[in-house]
Amino acid sequence: MTVHLVVRAATDVGRVRDHNEDAFLVDDRLGLFAVADGMGGHQAGEVASATALEALRAAVTSGAGIRDAVTSANDAVYEKSTTDERLRGMGTTLTAGTLAAGDTLLLGHVGDSRGYLLRDHHLERLTTDHSLVEELIQAGELTEEQAESDPRRSMITRALGIEPEVEVDLYPIQVVSGDRLLLCSDGLTGMVGEDRIEAALTDEADPNVAARRLVDAANAGGGIDNITVLVVDVVDAEGPTAAVPVVTAPEPEAAPPSSRPPGSGPSGRRRLRRILLWALPVVVVLGVAFGIVDYYAHHTYFVGTDGNRVTVFQGRPGGLLFWNPTVQDRTSLDTRTLVSSDRAQVGAGHGQFSSVGAASAYVRQLRARAAQRRHLNLGNALPVTPTTVATGPPAP
Ligand code: MN
Repeated sequence: MTVHLVVRAATDVGRVRDHNEDAFLVDDRLGLFAVADGMGGHQAGEVASATALEALRAAVTSGAGIRDAVTSANDAVYEKSTTDERLRGMGTTLTAGTLAAGDTLLLGHVGDSRGYLLRDHHLERLTTDHSLVEELIQAGELTEEQAESDPRRSMITRALGIEPEVEVDLYPIQVVSGDRLLLCSDGLTGMVGEDRIEAALTDEADPNVAARRLVDAANAGGGIDNITVLVVDVVDAEGPTAAVPVVTAPEPEAAPPSSRPPGSGPSGRRRLRRILLWALPVVVVLGVAFGIVDYYAHHTYFVGTDGNRVTVFQGRPGGLLFWNPTVQDRTSLDTRTLVSSDRAQVGAGHGQFSSVGAASAYVRQLRARAAQRRHLNLGNALPVTPTTVATGPPAP
């Protein structure tokens, strides 16, 4: 029996971020679908996720398998980030699936977006997060429960575009009609527990509505990150192509599970343990280093610009590793009214203040100097708002 896929997606900026750096791809003709969660200063995260998906699609179009396609997505993001100063350090997660011969679905995966399989009302996580907390869980340093509230949750240990080479995890899954897959960014899993994800996917037959419902749940849970959800229904190719999963009769006990991802079999587990023993000191050192960076990312403020407004940001100009600066206070002060030396300083992102108050005091100085200049009407004129050149007939 041949199957085909019905893929429905939803994405949302969430309730805190001001732009959406997640992206998704659904290409029915290629049988290709993917989720990417980009990161980087300013708008670089959006560039990273879009670039990865574009390159992924191009590679699959020209006949590449999923692993090679993810590798060329890495090449494309890395190439852009090393040739464009403004995009330096950007990266993205990528979890991509394609239907191969023999009803085998292949997932290629890098980062902390996730793939899940819902089969017989039971949700199973397919992918392993490439994140610090996941490594700490595997090393026995952290429980799943502690990980849920760990401030280092969003720190990932593998992403596309960071290094010239990337290791891609590959998961072959033998799918059957009635299966439902979920691909999602951490904006969902960070906000909604797996029990509730399982319930939503089980209760809601329409994949479109299910995707929307999960996004709504993530927003209801705080929506602190961008949220992207892909619901993939496996249906009989010959049957009606209604976007409704076929409910299969309960299978007898000991039904064969879906193919296990590599690395979770006994020998894989042994190998993993060996790697971890060797890697543990490295992980601990990295953890401390990340902790320090995390502190600086979250306890320092600078004054920069957002549009033409002087704005207080938390973090460091351009971001630190994967921590983007976040807007704390977008003031009413127009950068074009600043004296030119202040304008240059603010344009580059000024200061390393220890509190919003300290940054606001600096904004007050900017405002005073701008007002003084205006009052004295000294040169260094405001850029004149471009006036529209009248193209119509002259007024009488
Ligand atoms: Mn995210």
